[in-house]
Amino acid sequence: MSRRRQIYEGKAKILYEGPEPGTIIQYFKDDATAFNAQKKGTISGKGVLNNRISEHLFTLLGGIGVPTHFIRRLNMREQLVRQVEIVPIEVVVRNVVAGSLAKRFGLEEGTTLPRTILEYYYKDDALGDPLVTDEHISAFGWATQDEMHDIADMAIRVNDFMAGLFAGVGIRLVDFKLEFGRLYDQEFSRIILADEISPDGCRLWDAQTNEKLDKDRFRRDLGNVIESYTEVARRLGIMKEMPTVIQGGIH
Ligand code: UDP
Repeated sequence: MSRRRQIYEGKAKILYEGPEPGTIIQYFKDDATAFNAQKKGTISGKGVLNNRISEHLFTLLGGIGVPTHFIRRLNMREQLVRQVEIVPIEVVVRNVVAGSLAKRFGLEEGTTLPRTILEYYYKDDALGDPLVTDEHISAFGWATQDEMHDIADMAIRVNDFMAGLFAGVGIRLVDFKLEFGRLYDQEFSRIILADEISPDGCRLWDAQTNEKLDKDRFRRDLGNVIESYTEVARRLGIMKEMPTVIQGGIH
């Protein structure tokens, strides 16, 4: 890893300078955090699975015309992506009541929402990622109204596609988080999907049993974390070449 310049180290990924200008390498770690990094742990093999799951989903989304930063997977833990300026907003898409929504409004987890809800959180660890509205986002200059329009449109397209994809493999897409970035072409920029989509940032429940197959297994100490991520990969049909992750054999 030392041959490349590290640009940034986050909670679950490291970003390195890419081989060509305008590219970045995303390295997927096994580290996991929850509750604004108050809870920390390592899930052996998670980075390998998230790299593959995210590659799969970004490739399919690219195929239906959603612009993304994904270029190609390089190896077990790394993928090459386009360098973007990250919009400092976490976009949460919700189909079913869970997590902070259940807590905030006293709702029962598992209730299907009458319509999909989009929420925005300002990315600031020190502030605990506060919930914000479009008004805050444009007033504080985090994104323009045009950019937010594109972001909301894309988030809904991603949700429609992914909800169907997961339903087809017996998984309920409860909620998930997306991040977007600005891709610059001289003085112009356009919004593309960035970061990752993996069980770290999605709630995925088995459609039959409601068993959780996502990071809530880590957050809530439910056990079998890597087995659940592996099950998601297996159902998506991307486990064929990597059968030994759950034994912790792949690094
Ligand atoms: N999420 C995320 N990163 C965050 C906060 C939330 O990926 O910093 C995801 C989370 O995995 C879930 C969805 O966004 O799929 C909604 O999370 P929620 O607001 O319910 O917060 P949580 O209960 O995870 O604190």
